[in-house]
Amino acid sequence: MKPTSPTDFWDNLAAFANPVPRDIATALRALGIEVLRELSRPDSAEYLARCPAHLALTGKQDRRPSFSVNGSTGLFHCFSCGYAGPFIALVEDGLGYNRIEAFQWIARHGVYRTAEESGPAPEAEETVRINEASLALFVPPPPAACEKRSVTPAACHDLGVLWDPETRRWILPIRDPFTGELWGWQEKGKRYFRNYPSGIHKSRTLFGDMAWSGETALILESPLDAVRARALGIPGAFSSFGAHVSEAQMRLLKARCRNLILGLDNDSAGRTSRDRIHDRWRPRGLPMKFLDYSHTTAKDLGDMSDADALTAYGNAHHPWRRRR
Ligand SMILES: [Zn+2]
Repeated sequence: MKPTSPTDFWDNLAAFANPVPRDIATALRALGIEVLRELSRPDSAEYLARCPAHLALTGKQDRRPSFSVNGSTGLFHCFSCGYAGPFIALVEDGLGYNRIEAFQWIARHGVYRTAEESGPAPEAEETVRINEASLALFVPPPPAACEKRSVTPAACHDLGVLWDPETRRWILPIRDPFTGELWGWQEKGKRYFRNYPSGIHKSRTLFGDMAWSGETALILESPLDAVRARALGIPGAFSSFGAHVSEAQMRLLKARCRNLILGLDNDSAGRTSRDRIHDRWRPRGLPMKFLDYSHTTAKDLGDMSDADALTAYGNAHHPWRRRR
């Protein structure tokens, strides 16, 4: 057996534990989230605040407050926009940290415990049993919806993408990268998105054709952009489900390709993440190029015309050629 390096240790700890600060109210304040009300429940407290993700997800401030954090499990949930997850996700999003940094931040805020080993069982949704039958209510995306997103029904079929006819939302399955077992899905509609169930470990897997391996892979933020790339005939396109690409996700990519094109969004979060991945993984022997945005104002592949998207891919460049 290979000895475990300190990095692997933090990776594994962060991936498998669900740390919660000892004093959630104080930790929320440290994240800049003001607790407006505290509800006493038989088993724990519930903190209510204005939703920190509301503006980004809906374009409007949360005035109600709609955001609730369980004082025992640390699970959070916005009743209005659906933003939800384990406490560590709130730290990642709020401070722009990766999973390991967020873990260390929580460890510094009191002796951490893990939600699995203490406190009452998580909310009902957390214990929902997910299996293939959970997808039974969904259908293949209708051609009109595909056209709107410039994806093809064939690419949707290949990547297992479905559609919720009731809410008219995309259903992007999240699966175990090794066994293909269904963990849940990302639900995406107009100005709406959520991961289901809320505590899902999306940073431990990728969206895309996990059976693929080849010369050059492409990593994108949004699963639908990976579908778009496939529709354009671009091989080996994967999505990290967001701007942050975890160490586990990078290892899954490195195992499948000899070169990687970093196609994260052309916004500040995407560029920061891109540079960080490059600095961290180039020394580990993974050659990388950056998706080219010099000919377009689009911030991701999904917003580009077919021709612009193919140019962005074809003109992917080495980082040093960009820095002038
Ligand atoms: Zn919200």
